[in-house]
Amino acid sequence: MSVETSYLSGTSDSPLIHRSVGGVLVDAAARWPDRTALVVRHQGVRIGYRELLERADRLARGFLALGLTPGERVGIWSPNNLEWILTQFATARAGLVLVNINPAYRTAELAYVLRKVGCRALLFAPRFKGSDYAAMLDELFADAPPARDGVLDHARFPELRRLICLGSEAAPRFLSFDRLAEIAESVPAQVLEDLAADIDPDDPINIQFTSGTTGAPKGATLTHFNIVNNGYFVGRGIRLGEQDRLCVPVPLYHCFGMVMGVLAAVTHGAALVFPSEAFDPLDVLHAVAEERCTALYGVPTMFIAELDHPRFREFDLRSLRTGIMAGATCPITVMRRVIDEMHLREITICYGMTETSPVSFQSRIGDPLEQLVSTVGRIHPHLQAKVIDADGRVVRRGETGELLTRGYSVMRGYWDDPEHTAEAVDEAGWMHTGDLATIDAEGYCTIVGRVKDMIIRGGENVYPREIEEFLHHHPKVLDVAVVGVPDPKYGEAVCAVVRLREGVDGDAEEIVAYCRGRIAHYKVPRYVRFVDQFPMTVTGKVQKYLIREQMESILSARDGRDPC
Ligand code: AMP
Repeated sequence: MSVETSYLSGTSDSPLIHRSVGGVLVDAAARWPDRTALVVRHQGVRIGYRELLERADRLARGFLALGLTPGERVGIWSPNNLEWILTQFATARAGLVLVNINPAYRTAELAYVLRKVGCRALLFAPRFKGSDYAAMLDELFADAPPARDGVLDHARFPELRRLICLGSEAAPRFLSFDRLAEIAESVPAQVLEDLAADIDPDDPINIQFTSGTTGAPKGATLTHFNIVNNGYFVGRGIRLGEQDRLCVPVPLYHCFGMVMGVLAAVTHGAALVFPSEAFDPLDVLHAVAEERCTALYGVPTMFIAELDHPRFREFDLRSLRTGIMAGATCPITVMRRVIDEMHLREITICYGMTETSPVSFQSRIGDPLEQLVSTVGRIHPHLQAKVIDADGRVVRRGETGELLTRGYSVMRGYWDDPEHTAEAVDEAGWMHTGDLATIDAEGYCTIVGRVKDMIIRGGENVYPREIEEFLHHHPKVLDVAVVGVPDPKYGEAVCAVVRLREGVDGDAEEIVAYCRGRIAHYKVPRYVRFVDQFPMTVTGKVQKYLIREQMESILSARDGRDPC
């Protein structure tokens, strides 16, 4: 293929690792037995790699004692905590498939997930942020509640047999997590070792329900090989090593936490620091300063919240060296402050999606600021990417089209959903990301929007990201999301939904006036609306389809008049 086409193939001096998730923890425990593996600040937990393996193995034997067998699915519905990580490794050691359930899910979504993948057991946190999970389960299983110790026999959930409550104080109708460790004693350690030795790294290990910025959740099924390698190469991308202390405020139920966080740390011997059970900017600032963290992860909105915290200046963040910003595009103003005021001089940008385990592009340490803010870096080792037009042809460098990725990281498929799998991964193995991108002459990739996000106004293609980036320079704008709304004359019109900085007033006129003459007329928002919050996924992604729906209903209620 000619060099001008938008096709990339990532190389590396490091081969892919054919090892299971449990295997990499065994290796870490052998190499760094006494090094800190995990600090969970809100639980007062501090353990080394040897202890992490011992505790994960005890839990794995507990799962076996419950009669769970390899290949069966075990769900976890919980915010970040020690038990989550133990469950991640215990399921891996016992060959069970871990099912990550978004802690923001409610009964209807939980029921859907449990039935879709046929979970045998469900672990859940007793409560989190005003959500009483035990009460929700009582409601869900009201017609056939669990007997003692969480034993369930329910006609609508025929596969589900056990409800396990995290912690030590479960009500008698649930099995407590701590009791599992006692039950484990009935299974000899050798049974687990024999079973673990049989695990094939190419087996599925994890089902993740994608976060739904585009609608209905689907269960991306990932193998050990998918996620071990992605974790390892992401860690290499930030030169993670045994001296590092990685602060992880992103959720474990998402790849950002459990792969880019946990597996990157375990494959490189770094310590993981969890500031709180769910994101809180003040907890992150405390954690970084008090644990002397060297690396910090987050989606752009998290970094914005940390920088904007009224107590930001009180914290000494000079221990920070590197980190990852991912999940959405970072405005240049934010990136400047992250480097200058948070000292993340070696921060990298990652781009990816759950279905590709997740990362496929990453900037490199030393990339110029310009590339760092305007692109998502270059292709990851051992992966390929191409950008295609509507006819499936590879476009020339610099032209926009849909981004496709291929290689070791592409999921096995959506669980029990061959139809959607075939739509997402084509016969040649390419994952169709649904993202619009360009690849430049040097191989840097820029995400310009989602296939569905692109606004077509009177025949002109408008990329929301470009307008968002522009409006971020407005001194009153804290954050902005641009969407397309129906327009009788132009087909679609540009709508900017703006969050203003604390304590300032603004009106639509001044935002529009700011754009006039500075950006092309067809990009100037027809509508400007102010909000306090955007609808967000738990991983911090703005749910544009919800904004679009809201704006459409406001517009139709006002008969097309300006809704502002
Ligand atoms: P998820 O499966 O929840 O990880 O979401 C994946 C989607 O997030 C991708 O398809 C992109 O639309 C978006 N995304 C991830 N990383 C970035 C990034 N660095 N810049 C822009 N969009 C991103």
